Amino acid sequence: MSHNATPTAATAHHAVPRAAFRTLRMDGVSRRFGAVTALDRLDLTIEGGEFVALLGPSGCGKSTALNCLAGLLPLTGGAIWLDDERVDGLPPEKRGFGMVFQNYALFPHLTVRGNVGFGLAVRGVPKAETARRVDEALALVELSDQAGKLPGRLSGGQQQRVAIARAVVLRPRLVLMDEPLSNLDAKLRLQMRTEIRRLHQSLGLTTVYVTHDQEEALALADRLVVLRGGLAEQIGSPEQVYTYPANTYVAGFMGYRNLLELPVVAREGDRVVLAEPGLRLTGVAQEGFRGATAVAAVRPDDFALGAHLANALRVSVEVAEFHGREMAAEGVTEAGRVVHFRVPERVRPGDRLELGVPPERVLVFAGTASAEVDGAPRPGDRR
Ligand code: ATP
Repeated sequence: MSHNATPTAATAHHAVPRAAFRTLRMDGVSRRFGAVTALDRLDLTIEGGEFVALLGPSGCGKSTALNCLAGLLPLTGGAIWLDDERVDGLPPEKRGFGMVFQNYALFPHLTVRGNVGFGLAVRGVPKAETARRVDEALALVELSDQAGKLPGRLSGGQQQRVAIARAVVLRPRLVLMDEPLSNLDAKLRLQMRTEIRRLHQSLGLTTVYVTHDQEEALALADRLVVLRGGLAEQIGSPEQVYTYPANTYVAGFMGYRNLLELPVVAREGDRVVLAEPGLRLTGVAQEGFRGATAVAAVRPDDFALGAHLANALRVSVEVAEFHGREMAAEGVTEAGRVVHFRVPERVRPGDRLELGVPPERVLVFAGTASAEVDGAPRPGDRR
């Protein structure tokens, strides 16, 4: 069967394959470490030019997936294909992928120019061409004026830009980034995020980006892969994953901070009514919904303050934080249920308020909320 084909000599002798590709296909890719299944039969097809983010909490398998792609970790199952070429047997340097790591991994004794040009020199690219390409890459990340400095004299954001220039100067057919912004402070992180998006738009480089930060993933990626315990829980566009999370785990990860486990009192078509004393919510049944108990997932910012709104509920405010344009608050219902909400109005602890939320923004999932957001495996997990 062609899936078991070994890499051909024709592909193996290209030190830096530069041809773009139509699709990169991870086909049931698995990686085990002893008894731990770090990545469990991941199927993912990435289109040439796409920006894909692998997202999930610590330990979900994102770095493992990236390292399998890079060739830094052999697979224990499955295959990786670049169009019709099987690449999972190739060593990292034969794959033609660029890597950008969290810790930059720059050579401290080489200048910025030396770091960016290093890979080209190693590959025997002529000096004049190396100089031209390094200049181009430095201009791209706006570091031309820092070319003669040693990395130790640069800020974290500048060092990360050197790392990015070093990766793109090789014109890789795929760029792999592992939490590249996590060592930067909040302001720089936002700047570099825009920078990475701009670079992707101008170069059209296919990128696989690992992060545990849902905002970063939503902002950057064309498509997200939400991982848990080595399994892909959902693959979709930022809009899909944000608006229609596949389950309460993804919902929790996408900021549906309220995961309210409630008895079901009525169902009509796709509308479900959940209730307990002091709280009655009508929401939309999600795929697989069934049973007498359900979980209503609601984002704090979908609540609004005011009387006579749909899904009205009364809360007594316990904690209120000022977040600039809005307040993030925690209220408690009559039955002692904690509700997180964000509203533009000024609210204070002790306020008794009426809130509402549009039924279409209440997602009703089957099952229980426990153990869904902490990354713990659920009963019935496919393993
Ligand atoms: P983080 O953000 O913390 O790096 P991650 O989502 O990238 O987490 P991985 O590093 O891919 O997660 O790890 C997935 C699982 O595989 C974890 O349970 C981890 O402990 C395990 N694991 C990863 N590398 C090894 C290794 N070299 N030996 C043994 N177990 C490993």
